[in-house]
Amino acid sequence: MSSSVALRLPSIDGLLRHPACVPLLERYGREALLSRLRQLLDELRADVLNGQLSSIEISPEVLAGRVGERLAQQQRSNVRRVFNLTGTVLHTNLGRALLPEEAIDAVQMAARYPLNLEFDLATGKRGDRDDLIEGLIRELTGAEAVTVVNNNAAAVLLTLNSLGARKEGIISRGELIEIGGAFRIPDIMARAGVRLHEVGTTNRTHARDYEAAINPRSGLIMRVHASNYSIEGFTARVPTAELAELAHRHGLPLLEDLGSGSLLDLTRWGLPAEPTVRQALLDGADIVTFSGDKLLGGPQAGLIVGRKELIAKIKKNPLKRALRVDKLTLAALEAVLGLYRDPDRLAERLPSLRLLTRPQAEIFAQASRLQPAMAGVLGEPWQVSAVQALGMIGSGSQPVARLPSAALCLRPQVSKRLRGRFLLNLEAALRGLPIPVLGRIDDDALWLDLRQLDDEPAWLAQLPQLQVES
Ligand SMILES: *Cc1c(COP(=O)(O)O)cnc(C)c1O
Repeated sequence: MSSSVALRLPSIDGLLRHPACVPLLERYGREALLSRLRQLLDELRADVLNGQLSSIEISPEVLAGRVGERLAQQQRSNVRRVFNLTGTVLHTNLGRALLPEEAIDAVQMAARYPLNLEFDLATGKRGDRDDLIEGLIRELTGAEAVTVVNNNAAAVLLTLNSLGARKEGIISRGELIEIGGAFRIPDIMARAGVRLHEVGTTNRTHARDYEAAINPRSGLIMRVHASNYSIEGFTARVPTAELAELAHRHGLPLLEDLGSGSLLDLTRWGLPAEPTVRQALLDGADIVTFSGDKLLGGPQAGLIVGRKELIAKIKKNPLKRALRVDKLTLAALEAVLGLYRDPDRLAERLPSLRLLTRPQAEIFAQASRLQPAMAGVLGEPWQVSAVQALGMIGSGSQPVARLPSAALCLRPQVSKRLRGRFLLNLEAALRGLPIPVLGRIDDDALWLDLRQLDDEPAWLAQLPQLQVES
């Protein structure tokens, strides 16, 4: 743009009063608008002096539009809802379990009003926040007592530190695992002040290995659910009942970290068997730890259940105060646990269980139903098909088990050289939607596993906005 008459940027005061800026002023406030206007004018000043901008480009309407976009961008929260179509139901990076309505209501109540978090309404005296769920946990697991902390990693750390500090913790070499996010049993033990005494081998550990390790410095025996890997073939593991008998014969407590754990036998819903908390306690484990937001289907929490005197010792540890759960978590947890009193209706009411048990035929029908819309939006060169797929539970439950599911399989019909780029561009475009859609790339295609597509109308409504770069 060259012009003999030098253009001048509008003044800040003029812009603030301009009708195009008035709605922005009302929506975002004077301070935010002012700083964004100044920033934009500063950016444009040099270009205006060089004659590179037209009068339209620096009109108050256009400037207000640009500032409005920036303010909207800044206002959008960082915590965003997404569609989890990865095929992994309890996805740690996507927030794990979805809460049932009952828990959402409880969280709202706890957020909005004062509550009896640590106040005994019967006596008018100070209470203990663990008491809010102790009755339910006892009923559902047979445990004598419970204490709740922030997550299961905290539960393991607190338990080890409370019962085994400055002593040796005996554990099988096959159970020295690492769980995502750098949670490694040997490191946690060290941080808890427990000296690691490993026994057996990676694939086989016998009762005699534990027996031989016991000495006057022994403080506890620990057992950890392998969670995210499996050892197959020539293996041996001491059953919990036998290990508990051995531990008790030597006056040691047996801790069992179940990881996900489950309150009910999942095979009744056709899911792979997962050890239940009740069975671990019946077998003689003295303390069992498990997560609130894995198979339990509740909020992030770590539950420590077991023998009364050991729980009392754990609760006296000053670390407990540092790791305790907040009122929102407790409110949600109580509501979720309450649903377990009626197992017959649990699969309807608990979202994680409902999603995990969705029949493949139903998911496939959904994929077939949505195929034309997806194909229509993508057009050439994409081949869109409704296909059977295999998903997984996630969060270290049943690492090798696969959930028969169905997906939209999006395959670019381009040369092998270009396929990778097409897939990454499509993946980015799906992430760029108002409610980002997350799938997975595998075998030269992008898969959208529909097991967790609950809100079909919202998904369809935003589809026309998909803009794939090629
Ligand atoms: C998942 C898991 C943990 C950690 O639980 P968080 O609730 O994620 O902290 C610990 N131990 C085992 C065996 C697990 O599977």
